[in-house]
Amino acid sequence: MSRRVVDVLVPVALDRAYSYRVPKTLQLAPGDIVSVPLGAREATAVVWAENPKPNPRLDNRLKDVEEKLELPPLRPELRNFVDWVANYTIASRGMVLRMCLRMGEHLGEERERVGVRLVGPAPQRMTAARQRVLSLLADKMLRSKGEAAREAGVSAGVIDGLIDEGTLETLVLPPEAVAEPPDPDFAQPDLTADQSAAAAELKAIAGGSYSVTLLDGVTGSGKTEVYFEAVADTIRSRRQSLILMPEIALTARFLDRFAARFGVHPAEWHSELSPRRRARTWRAVADGEVSVVVGARSALFLPYADLGLIVVDEEHDAAYKQEDGVRYHARDMAVVRGHIAHIPVVLSSATPSLETEVNVRRGRYRRLVLPERFGGQRMPSVEAIDLRRERPPPGRFIAPTLAGAVQTAIERGEQALFFLNRRGYAPLTLCRACGFRFSCPSCDAWLVDHRFRRQLVCHHCGFAMPHPVECPNCQAANSFAAIGPGVERLEEEVRALFPQARILVLSSDLVATMERLREELDDVAAGRFDIVIGTQLVAKGHHFPKLNLVGIVDADLGLNNGDPRAAERTFQLLHQVVGRAGRDAGIGRGYLQTHQPEHPVMRALIAQDREAFYDAEIAARESAHYPPFGRLASLVVSGPDKHDTQIFARLFARSAPQHDDVRVLGPADAPLSLVRGRHRLRLLVKAPRAFDLSAYLRDWLAAAPKAKGSIKLDIDVDPQSFL
Ligand code: ADP
Ligand code: ZN
Repeated sequence: MSRRVVDVLVPVALDRAYSYRVPKTLQLAPGDIVSVPLGAREATAVVWAENPKPNPRLDNRLKDVEEKLELPPLRPELRNFVDWVANYTIASRGMVLRMCLRMGEHLGEERERVGVRLVGPAPQRMTAARQRVLSLLADKMLRSKGEAAREAGVSAGVIDGLIDEGTLETLVLPPEAVAEPPDPDFAQPDLTADQSAAAAELKAIAGGSYSVTLLDGVTGSGKTEVYFEAVADTIRSRRQSLILMPEIALTARFLDRFAARFGVHPAEWHSELSPRRRARTWRAVADGEVSVVVGARSALFLPYADLGLIVVDEEHDAAYKQEDGVRYHARDMAVVRGHIAHIPVVLSSATPSLETEVNVRRGRYRRLVLPERFGGQRMPSVEAIDLRRERPPPGRFIAPTLAGAVQTAIERGEQALFFLNRRGYAPLTLCRACGFRFSCPSCDAWLVDHRFRRQLVCHHCGFAMPHPVECPNCQAANSFAAIGPGVERLEEEVRALFPQARILVLSSDLVATMERLREELDDVAAGRFDIVIGTQLVAKGHHFPKLNLVGIVDADLGLNNGDPRAAERTFQLLHQVVGRAGRDAGIGRGYLQTHQPEHPVMRALIAQDREAFYDAEIAARESAHYPPFGRLASLVVSGPDKHDTQIFARLFARSAPQHDDVRVLGPADAPLSLVRGRHRLRLLVKAPRAFDLSAYLRDWLAAAPKAKGSIKLDIDVDPQSFL
């Protein structure tokens, strides 16, 4: 008699589930996490389906499932999600499954936590350190060894000494919980009328089935407070909530904010968790012990025991797109997961993505509006400084009008922010004698001057070289000119303009740790700086009560880069940055230094007419059949040899299935035509909105020549990046 066979999905780059025999002693069902032999090794994998009709000829060759692991099974909802994401993104199912299994099962037994308590007589020999421990533990409370040492300010050896002398006794502590249960009634805010109305609608949705709601409110209107009410209701009904954040840098402060509302920190999930914490959190989420997870996009793939709500904060943020491995957009996949799990999804933004805006206008998503800032603060007024008419002095980047406005602001005791989305000192260095420009040896990119690090750096591959003393081309000495500004160069100018001011530069390459960044942000919030010079890092989420003036040094940066979303992105970014001003008291003002004040993005920001911008942008996308009115996929062929790469790209393009609705553009050199020594060619596939682009791409791949050797093909469905 032939034995039972199951198909098992292994978390490696394979799309198929493989058949294994089930030993008679094993009780197995789909979703169970098992260990199976894979080649010469053992792999953790998941039973994907029964195989009622295994091929009898294979029967003897099938291997046995090794064992069933003591982990909660993956629920059908998550397995469907894996299949869906893989199918849509053209990733292998194994790679998507891998994102669900990041629980680090090979960590071994957890170390025991040992607690200490004061029981015995004082030690024979008394020291100052020992005395501190005794006074700390005089309350007879149980503390972990580490905690006791830390709080008493002594080394672990001092504690061990007291244990040896019988003064302290040790006990085994239960493992620390990943997160304490949040209290939905811990600190309920007094909501404004608008906030209450929105919260009531969200609460009605929160208990229900699948729906998507856009929480659309200006910066500072209290969107977080409002969606917390939906989270509170989900906690009350004992289901789990997931709050997605675009960046880890934002989660740290968010945890405190959450604790202020719910009394405890939520569970965190992102790439900076230690392996053990990751394992514990994974398990606690699967067991249903954690009720709220705050995380980066990968938190979408956790095995929730009973997920009841997904919130996507700053839903328009481009950081939600994962650009390597499985290329997925976490906001879109959150909607898919909500659909599969029959639960509500809340998208929150002051500047919704065009995709979401169109979905609202079509009636597929509903919109809840928070029209005003909390506390009645007005939105900042915005004006343009036309750089064609008012030029900064030579070699300078701040026009006199902006400098004057900042001067007035700091004299009033307010803060000012200069925003420039460019790290380093200058984006280009050239030799004045011969015109030589420093570029990366393995990328098609200029080297960026970082004076603080004393290096020229490639922002694409990380290549760095010390500042040169002579030109490698003409050997002229001290002939270098820095072209264009970065935040470090701007700092020089700002210090010269405002010698008395307390100035802080915030740029991701200058912050040592998350903790340090948090302290610096706190310092800004507390008013310990007059002027902040910042990159994108300062654009999001922060609340600086004294900040009333924002100067955008180069509003045009990013508008002319050939990206179909350039206008949308620039609008969102600048709107967000200007929205940092005037959140607490006083009148917020924003200045846009631009060469194109008549550009629709600038006009919309100045007139504070978001709708006009969306109307125009939607019309433009529609007539160009760009998303969300058409679909795109980008295929990048890359390889170390330019000629071979070109030949393969052309062959590959020729194998595209013919279809009346589909246009295949390219191959052409990608805008970034060389990265890390690899030449890149790009194909763009355009199709109508309702077209099954994934099926088309799969057909194509099946018929196409295979990329061999060092040539690689990367497929990106719904691309966000066009470089
Ligand atoms: P958004 O997410 O829309 O930018 P936030 O939720 O961050 O707005 O709110 C802006 C600020 O106003 C925060 O400091 C928040 O704590 C405060 N706030 C908003 N609504 C209330 C309220 N009803 N009661 C007390 N503080 C509030
Ligand atoms: Zn490089």
